[in-house]
Amino acid sequence: GRQFFIGGNYKMNGSISSIKELVTSLNNAKLDPNAEVVIAPPSLYLLLAREHLRKGLEVAAQNVFDKPNGAFTGEISVDQLRESGITWAILGHSERRVILQEDNEFVASKTKAAVEGGISVILCCGESLEQREANKTIEIVTAQLKAVADKVKDWSKIVVAYEPIWAIGTGKVATTEQAQEVHAAIREWLKKEVSAEAAEKTRILYGGSVTEKNSGELAKQADIDGFLVGGASLKPAFYDIINSNQ
Ligand code: 13P
Repeated sequence: GRQFFIGGNYKMNGSISSIKELVTSLNNAKLDPNAEVVIAPPSLYLLLAREHLRKGLEVAAQNVFDKPNGAFTGEISVDQLRESGITWAILGHSERRVILQEDNEFVASKTKAAVEGGISVILCCGESLEQREANKTIEIVTAQLKAVADKVKDWSKIVVAYEPIWAIGTGKVATTEQAQEVHAAIREWLKKEVSAEAAEKTRILYGGSVTEKNSGELAKQADIDGFLVGGASLKPAFYDIINSNQ
């Protein structure tokens, strides 16, 4: 089986004191020992989180650049993350695709740089409401993933996060059927376009208005292997979501 995976995406939230508090209470919470847990604070707090977080829990950056070093103002490299004990990066989040206009190519290039440099990637994909209503969900999601498959053959360091844009921060969670349908299509696509092994082993997370109230039902779906949690990762509800696969 695939290990249940929970990511907490803090986005641009928190302060020195609140992140210390979140990390300390996560350290002390009773968590499913079979779940893999990764938290992603803003880059300024990555070291602080790593310093305070207990062993066994991992830290993710919310972005990483695709060049090794040099004149790239504002960016952080794969080596800099690795040296700091940051083992994961979230890439292709819709907030970066939409607000910062990152395209599929750029996300793929960063994914390649990360995995080749030993950083695991939570690779986000997902459609807008308009695209869903035009029946383009699978087409959009697989195009986002194909850009990565064109550059990266080994998917062992990639976890896919399906996050429909219309469900992010809206309180409008996808139904279990809607989520399972896309997750199954992603797994089918992995089998055809990457490998049977990648299809079997790659964790596919759901993200978008996940709470402790809906996580249990979603976690029961055959192709839902965990969650990427935004708002609820900043609250004690996060522990219940981590424990929702028991
Ligand atoms: P919310 O859980 O706040 O809807 O955010 C989801 C998300 O974007 C996680 O990356």
